[in-house]
Amino acid sequence: MLNQENHNKFYNSFVLGIDADDTLWENEAWFYKIQDRFFELMSPWSEAHETNNILLQNERVSIPKYGYGVTSFVKSMITTAIQISDGEIETKEIVQIISWGDELIDAPIELLPDVEETLSDLSDSYYLLLITKGDVLHQRAKIKKSGLTDFFWNIEVVGEKDPEIYEMLLNRYGIKPEMFVMIGNSVSSDVLPVLNIGAKAIHVPHHTTWELEIPDSKELENVSFPVAQSISEVPKILSGWND
Ligand SMILES: [Mg+2]
Repeated sequence: MLNQENHNKFYNSFVLGIDADDTLWENEAWFYKIQDRFFELMSPWSEAHETNNILLQNERVSIPKYGYGVTSFVKSMITTAIQISDGEIETKEIVQIISWGDELIDAPIELLPDVEETLSDLSDSYYLLLITKGDVLHQRAKIKKSGLTDFFWNIEVVGEKDPEIYEMLLNRYGIKPEMFVMIGNSVSSDVLPVLNIGAKAIHVPHHTTWELEIPDSKELENVSFPVAQSISEVPKILSGWND
């Protein structure tokens, strides 16, 4: 897998894991747009906040079985619609929900500010591994559409981002934890599990955070990590660690 040249470079500098959704491009914004339409569709039966609560409950059940992404989201909306309407929801409305899933899959990729320049800069000095969770085909299609593929050493679409998965990836590539830095917008997925295995992480917050990605305040006790207000601040943080 690694040639000798790569191998040497590899131990002398960090390998960077980089999250995709809401770190490199807008993602949640599309889901929120569809959610608003769903709340509207359900409004004859329930208020938006109540629909949201039931949808979240169904997503919590769905994700461990179906994974993250559009498939799981569409299934959760359909289940929620049937529950809330007590079975009154009509086929044409279910068809509409399914079409929203297609719309999400086909949504354009909008890169976040400074992403392209920063990845170009980072890829000169570091190996970049794109690590994302979600539906495999959809995640791969988004990466292709983004035009960023060439900056990455490799792309990993995983089912979950927990310490076991990160450990498995580091073992697969022969990366020592102290030489790995994960960069992403989710404290729960991109920061805490990575600190947990003795690696480093840089949080790049996005303007929205999905409720299922918000950590308990307890989980944040006794941990510290740098927060970059934009991905463009990442190279400076890394060079501080290299000194
Ligand atoms: Mg993300």
